[in-house]
Amino acid sequence: MPFLKLSYLRSKKIPLFSKRFESFIRQQYRNFSKKQRRWSQTPRELSGTDKALEHFDLFYKPVYGEVWPSIRISLLTTQKYCALINNFRDVEGVVDRLTQLGARDILRDVSDALKNQPGDKVDNNFNFTREVKKNPSNEVEEKDDDAEDEDSEDKLTEGEELMTLLRYEKNTSLDNFIPVKRVYTEKELNEQEDIERSTYQPTGIPVNVIHEGPVQIPKDLRVYAYEKGDTGEFPSPNSNMDGKLEYFLMDGASILPVIALDLQPSDNVLDLCSAPGGKALAMKQTNLPESIYCNDLSGSRLKRLQKVLRSYIPDNMTDDITLKQQDGRQLKTPHFNKVLVDVPCNTDRHVLLEEDNNLFKSGRTGERLQLPTVQRDLLVAGILSCVQGGSVVYSTCTLSAAQNEGVVQSALQYIWQETDINVAVVDLNHMAKSFSKTFRFWRHSRLGQVVLPTLSCNFGPMYIAKLRILERPT
Ligand code: SAM
Repeated sequence: MPFLKLSYLRSKKIPLFSKRFESFIRQQYRNFSKKQRRWSQTPRELSGTDKALEHFDLFYKPVYGEVWPSIRISLLTTQKYCALINNFRDVEGVVDRLTQLGARDILRDVSDALKNQPGDKVDNNFNFTREVKKNPSNEVEEKDDDAEDEDSEDKLTEGEELMTLLRYEKNTSLDNFIPVKRVYTEKELNEQEDIERSTYQPTGIPVNVIHEGPVQIPKDLRVYAYEKGDTGEFPSPNSNMDGKLEYFLMDGASILPVIALDLQPSDNVLDLCSAPGGKALAMKQTNLPESIYCNDLSGSRLKRLQKVLRSYIPDNMTDDITLKQQDGRQLKTPHFNKVLVDVPCNTDRHVLLEEDNNLFKSGRTGERLQLPTVQRDLLVAGILSCVQGGSVVYSTCTLSAAQNEGVVQSALQYIWQETDINVAVVDLNHMAKSFSKTFRFWRHSRLGQVVLPTLSCNFGPMYIAKLRILERPT
């Protein structure tokens, strides 16, 4: 057998070890002093990826309990992608090829199932069905029991579920500090701040929960994924004579915030944190909205968005898309009837696998701890930018309850205290139920839905919450 050099394998992108194992080896190697030919006695600082894993074990395990080990190993394993078909070029050959590879359209399954549901017709008129007042206890809202796939191999037994709930109840009080009379070191104070900003405690603000009809699947949207358990990868998309690519590869769960928007032909959409543009591209692929306003704070990321749009959409078909570089927190005028607030977050997968741009590196602790505040301000801006009757979808790609439920709760609290806007939470159980064959949802969230990564369907994490502006005095 020919001797294979490490550099040769790398150049061919042939993985030798998992990324985490490589990171571990690199960490150990750094501790070895070549000069003294011995291992260094002073422990080196933990890498960003190691700190992220420690943090997740500390803060996610109490929330996800018995399910955490399965989520953890999935997060450390290769993520599953799906192919968003580009409608702005010939599609037949592409679809045939993906079907031959064993992929199927995950959206068609859902829309077919919805069509075949007798009497369960789509109703886009929201109706106000109940008002829920939450007390400050750790009460977890009861959710529709059907929301999970009946045949799911990952389904918990009743005993396991109870254990999970008990752990959740017991541990979400991590931030209940008992005041003690002693002076804290700076390190301890930082740790306390981390705990406060990384945990979520339900408060007593009134939350209106409304039920709407099942989600409508845009008929032009096509998203192909391999079957559950199939970890195959999609080949790189080919481009046609005009340079337009066949499909866009993205995490399958990223389509859910777009579906939750329930796009209609007359919609004026604000995509508040739009770059690099996967969700904006998916919105455009529906051929539905009248206009899409793509905003992002970062100029370089907006350039990436522009490149994505150019790679898929002909130049003469982008008149309905506006790109804007602005701090989303400044947007306050109600010009839009659909708003997507897909905020910057922990980006769980990235921080576990990549050192570059890792939020858990010590130099970025302040920025990381500011995230829930930035997210809250962005969601508030999204609500303020939405007209009466319109809806706002909030999404993240983290499992952090503080950045998910915590942010929705504090934005609702702000709107309730500081404005006369009447906002309701839209129950997304219907959506979770419809997609339960493709995604695994966490059933214990109060305000939104969480897609949990599992080994057999390694999509996500993704959190989606939907708000409806019921009343907005002028
Ligand atoms: N929606 C995008 C997509 O589907 O490709 C991903 C958005 S990414 C999770 C979050 C984005 O928020 C980043 O591009 C970041 O530059 C942007 N961002 C961060 N702070 C912002 C702010 N204050 N206003 C607007 N955008 C912001």
